Amino acid sequence: MTFVALILAVALGVALYRLRQQRQAIAALEQAVRQRKQYLQEEIQENLGPDWVRLCAATNTLCAELERMQEFRTSQVAQLEATLGSLQEAVLMVDDRNRILLANNVLQSIFPGAKNILGQRLEVVLHSRAFLDFVEAVRQGRAQAQQPIQFNRDGDPVWVEVTGSLTAPLDGAQESWALFVLHDITKQRRLENMRKDFVANVSHELRTPLSVIKGYAETLIENHEAMPTADREKFLRTILRHAERLNSLLEDLLMLSRLESANPALNREPLRLSVLVNAVLDDYRGRPAAAAHQLVSELAPAPAEVSVDSLRITQALENLLDNALKYTPAGSRIVLKVAIAAREVEICVQDNGPGIPAEDLPHIFERFYRVDKGRSREKGGTGLGLSIMKHIVQLHGGRVWAESQPGQGTTIGFSLPRCG
Ligand code: ADP
Repeated sequence: MTFVALILAVALGVALYRLRQQRQAIAALEQAVRQRKQYLQEEIQENLGPDWVRLCAATNTLCAELERMQEFRTSQVAQLEATLGSLQEAVLMVDDRNRILLANNVLQSIFPGAKNILGQRLEVVLHSRAFLDFVEAVRQGRAQAQQPIQFNRDGDPVWVEVTGSLTAPLDGAQESWALFVLHDITKQRRLENMRKDFVANVSHELRTPLSVIKGYAETLIENHEAMPTADREKFLRTILRHAERLNSLLEDLLMLSRLESANPALNREPLRLSVLVNAVLDDYRGRPAAAAHQLVSELAPAPAEVSVDSLRITQALENLLDNALKYTPAGSRIVLKVAIAAREVEICVQDNGPGIPAEDLPHIFERFYRVDKGRSREKGGTGLGLSIMKHIVQLHGGRVWAESQPGQGTTIGFSLPRCG
């Protein structure tokens, strides 16, 4: 009896020992699977049996496969991030409730306010009814392939061309996600608008002199025999005046197009600025248009060398002097000033004429901008003089400015970098 009890006690001890061993092996195996590490065969107690060895081998293969898939996924995510980061377009993915799941950095460069947007709702990040309608249209499969949409960026319009498509969710859910590609076309739109405005302005400028020339020429052809000589001469002079206006408009347009071309070809040469300025002043003092004005100069005594295209800088200076003569009454005082600073020289033309209203001042360097359209045309202005001057100065690396006190006068000037 005692012997049987002893055998049973030994068998129980062995069974408990085995159970403990198996528990330890299961815990080790579980940890290996959790950590996706291979379960070392050596750790298996020999006496756990061949089944354990096979289980461990299968687990090891599984872990290796998992490890490989994880590496593959990590490299794919890295590749996707690099691809999204290198795109010129913004990419945005939203779930079925318009929550943002993915966005690349370009989105933030188009909309600087769109920071930390993952998880946020689309309508909170991009305030645009038109875009939300487009998102809805994509969901319903009735969106256009590409749609230009206007957004608002701190009060300024931003045009974006949007493409959208539905995509299957990565989590295998039923609802579909939507993917959008946003291409910023604001620059193209602005250029397009500028081009349209330019064509409209040029057509408008050409139309008036051309219709005057046409009308007067037709009258002359029909009535020239019956017309008194004085009238005929008056008509011909009007035709000539408008032909000259057309000519100066075309010359200014050609000059602008040359200055705006990719290679405006400046013939720079080092010269002493006072030589150029004095030559221009001498020329103007001899002109009848300047006879009724007081033309004086205030030139810095120190010499300043500049490296410039003298023809172009002469033209910039002439545009300023012409304006001062055109827009001030007889007897006005026009001062040409040259000041020398450490790195640049400043040249300006000051007058004590009627001045320019504050609201017009920021626009006077724009093409075809005129404060008083009638007066400019009557004086033979094209509305391009200051725009040409600005281009010339900028090509030389200088800057332009304008100051005015209505009723007291105007000062318009530019700077040029000094040589050496
Ligand atoms: P425009 O050919 O009409 O003179 P500009 O580009 O040279 O064209 O000048 C733009 C506008 O700025 C002019 O139409 C004129 O209204 C205004 N302006 C320029 N210079 C002066 C000035 N010295 N005094 C008053 N107005 C001026």
